[in-house]
Amino acid sequence: MNASLETLRRDFGGDIIGPDAAEYATARRSVLVEGSPAWVLRPKRVADVQAAVRFAAGSGLALSVRGGGHSFPGFGTNDGGVVIDLGHLSDVEVVDEERGLVRIGGGATWGQVAAVLAPHGLAISSGDTKSVGVGGLTLSGGIGWKARKYGLALDAVVAAEVVTAGGEVLRASAAENPELFWALRGGGGNAGIVTAFEFAAHRTTDVFHGRISFPAAEAAQVLQGWAAYMRTATEDLTTIATFANPFAGGPNAPVEILVAFDGDDPERAAEAIDPIRRLGTVLDDSVVLKPYPDTLEDGLTPPPGIRLVTRSAFAGGGSVPEVLRILTETGAAPGSPFIVVRSVGGAVSRVPADATAYAHRGAELMLVTTTAGPAPALEAARPALDALWSRLAPHVSGAYANFLASAAEEDVAAVYPRETYERLAAVKRAHDPANLLAGNHNVRPR
Ligand SMILES: Cc1cc2nc3c(=O)[nH]c(=O)nc-3n(C[C@H](O)[C@H](O)[C@H](O)COP(=O)(O)OP(=O)(O)OC[C@H]3O[C@@H](n4cnc5c(N)ncnc54)[C@H](O)[C@@H]3O)c2cc1C
Repeated sequence: MNASLETLRRDFGGDIIGPDAAEYATARRSVLVEGSPAWVLRPKRVADVQAAVRFAAGSGLALSVRGGGHSFPGFGTNDGGVVIDLGHLSDVEVVDEERGLVRIGGGATWGQVAAVLAPHGLAISSGDTKSVGVGGLTLSGGIGWKARKYGLALDAVVAAEVVTAGGEVLRASAAENPELFWALRGGGGNAGIVTAFEFAAHRTTDVFHGRISFPAAEAAQVLQGWAAYMRTATEDLTTIATFANPFAGGPNAPVEILVAFDGDDPERAAEAIDPIRRLGTVLDDSVVLKPYPDTLEDGLTPPPGIRLVTRSAFAGGGSVPEVLRILTETGAAPGSPFIVVRSVGGAVSRVPADATAYAHRGAELMLVTTTAGPAPALEAARPALDALWSRLAPHVSGAYANFLASAAEEDVAAVYPRETYERLAAVKRAHDPANLLAGNHNVRPR
């Protein structure tokens, strides 16, 4: 262990942060989970990532890789292990403006990306929050404000530079290491550490974005009408329905439909958004034309001791009305979790199911419940939450890796159907046979 620490100090050009260092107090934590790692390593170059991986492998300590640090289970930190924090690898470079080719460091955040791309008239559909990492969001999916038009964030990846668990640097694309490239797009951090992504960004104008809210009492009609409308709505429109927000009145909180129309033509935007306005009694309508980067919100770090428990699943076809009926009924009762339903479909669904390791292409909607509070409150809320998800179970499928609070075997099985899991396990065997990269929704090498 001492020998490998000496080697690390010799080969590593970044920051080595142990418990005695002044910055340890902030370095040890990911956004949602504290943690007490033995070492936080912040590489500045690809060679540092290689040295850090070799150190972690040689030390026998658990390894976590941190991109933006937003994982709900806290995969970006651990207790007593090694954290490789990619925060310094955050360059965003427009490589070819004409083709929209962009190179992005594996530790960049989506706020950094949007700020660099906006002056070039470019964007990548990526999510709704500035501080979320490009790494974690992209490697497991990436459901953003333009998902129905341009697909998931991972659908825009054309290549990646990867440091494997063996410390080797590989390039993965459709032409080079194609199986690794397949695994990186949906397999989370299982296949390797991405030091840089190459994305094909799309051209963007300003976009119409904001929220339209309705009384809680109209939840059933608004939600059913919204889901029915999204089946025929233009793919320029991506929307999210939220209700039972505990910070806005719980069962009395308004139902909010957050809309993003990808374009700056007011008539076309109105044509797309007006059917939503007609779903009920509009209490508030904040939809305005704004630069795409302004659609992203600042993230927040919960106060110490407060944890978030998220659960997710997908729905489509004939089961949608029943799923929304169950969720509406739950949302109207005290103690409901915060409920968010995202429209997917469109371009997300047009990618063949086996083209990437993201396995939920056929879904129309993704639902997420979130419960927040100190541990005893979460424990008390658990039976009702379990009962809700048991009711939903016959009508939903799968789970979105980026919105899960745990990574137990059944969670991983929900994220990856058997065939996807087997294929990922084969990639894992080829590139990480000792399962060094296990701080994620872990796929074991076969
Ligand atoms: C406030 C908030 C808003 C969100 N909004 C959205 C949204 O709109 N759409 C959406 O799809 N998701 C959203 N998410 C979920 C988000 O995509 C996941 O939490 C994601 O895992 C965060 O990525 P990260 O890099 O910030 O997290 P981290 O905790 O750093 O990483 C998450 C996982 O990815 C791995 N990883 C990260 N970077 C790399 C890399 N470069 N190479 C290899 N492995 C890596 C980590 O090891 C870990 O297993 C949101 C989450 C939060 C907390």
